[in-house]
Amino acid sequence: MSGKSLRNQTRWSAALQPNYGTPSLAIVSGKGCILTDVDGKKYLDFLGGIATNVLGQAHPAVVSAVTRQIKTLGHVSNFYSHPGVIELSEELQKLVGDKTARVFFCNSGAEANEAALKLSRKTGRTRVVATQGAFHGRTMGALSLTGQDSKRAPFKPLVPGIVHVPYGDIEAMKEAIDSDTAMVILESIMGEAGVVVPPRGYLKSIRKFCTKHGALLVIDAVQTGMGRTGDWFGYESEGIKPDIITLAKGLGGGLPLGAMIACGKASKLFKPGDHGSTFGGNPVACASALAVIKVLKKERLLSKSKKHGEIICKAISGMEGISEVRGRGLLLGIVTIKPIAVSLRDALQERGVLVNAATEDVIRIAPPLIVTEKQISKFVKVFESVLKEVLRD
Ligand SMILES: *Cc1c(COP(=O)(O)O)cnc(C)c1O
Repeated sequence: MSGKSLRNQTRWSAALQPNYGTPSLAIVSGKGCILTDVDGKKYLDFLGGIATNVLGQAHPAVVSAVTRQIKTLGHVSNFYSHPGVIELSEELQKLVGDKTARVFFCNSGAEANEAALKLSRKTGRTRVVATQGAFHGRTMGALSLTGQDSKRAPFKPLVPGIVHVPYGDIEAMKEAIDSDTAMVILESIMGEAGVVVPPRGYLKSIRKFCTKHGALLVIDAVQTGMGRTGDWFGYESEGIKPDIITLAKGLGGGLPLGAMIACGKASKLFKPGDHGSTFGGNPVACASALAVIKVLKKERLLSKSKKHGEIICKAISGMEGISEVRGRGLLLGIVTIKPIAVSLRDALQERGVLVNAATEDVIRIAPPLIVTEKQISKFVKVFESVLKEVLRD
């Protein structure tokens, strides 16, 4: 580690809270899928700010939209409307394919799920069904929905009335949902848990149970939304229609922006004064999101994401030491036969490739959707050679 890098770590830990640990890398700039650290070393970014930078860094369309907007109108609060927030809501309505859809904007995934949780209380019911292993955010309400005990335990008591059933288990869902259930929340693929894909028909069955008992179906598409899986929203793979969709990560193209989109009856539950956010729907964040949507469409990045995901899957599945590559589009979990994900991640970083160790045996990749086939080839080549090294050690 260079002197610069060490000094950065010392300054970080002397000024920031220890909740993340001290990052081993300090990034100063980026272009597309390439990041540059304080020492000028370049990295191929296959994590995309955790499935967030769908257009990579410094995409010209985002830079120009954001620059134009900040020069024109930077922030107004929700006492006033502005053109961007209306345009983006209309755009999301179209992408969801439902004219009854109504959008609430916030700044993060946790806030989007908080909004859904609050909205569900307006049904007059308070019981919620969520899934074990799921990640829905860190604020108290979102954490109550999150199904990971290590994250929850230190902060109990949490919001009451929330049960967690095993993910992918249709019978357990059937048992848990009844006429007291306000909402059911789940990810169409569990991202943070290690890109866990449920069995076919899972979402469809849950849709059916929710409809039967009048419970709201909330799909947390914070990680699987905005083209990541090759569809606009991950749940489309089963052709279902949720009552509520939550978005963040990819939505703002790197700027903080979240959304809670409610359809049908659910879109009428909030009354004036029920909820709010000062920054929610900020003009600059909206301008960025509109630019992202435009580019995703124009450059056909959804179908590219599907195709590129398949290329990566095919290239890596057969490698020695790999038991499975799972996921959809450009949200992939590379499962190793031994618990070597952390060593792999570190060795890849050393070799100039950034990925995430989601669990001890799952490497998660979520590169920008603009990733090129040349960059994919490079990733596969470096991955194969690093895998061999790590397996040998
Ligand atoms: C990241 C994530 C969240 C939380 O988003 P924040 O912006 O970190 O609050 C919620 N749900 C899912 C599925 C996520 O991947």
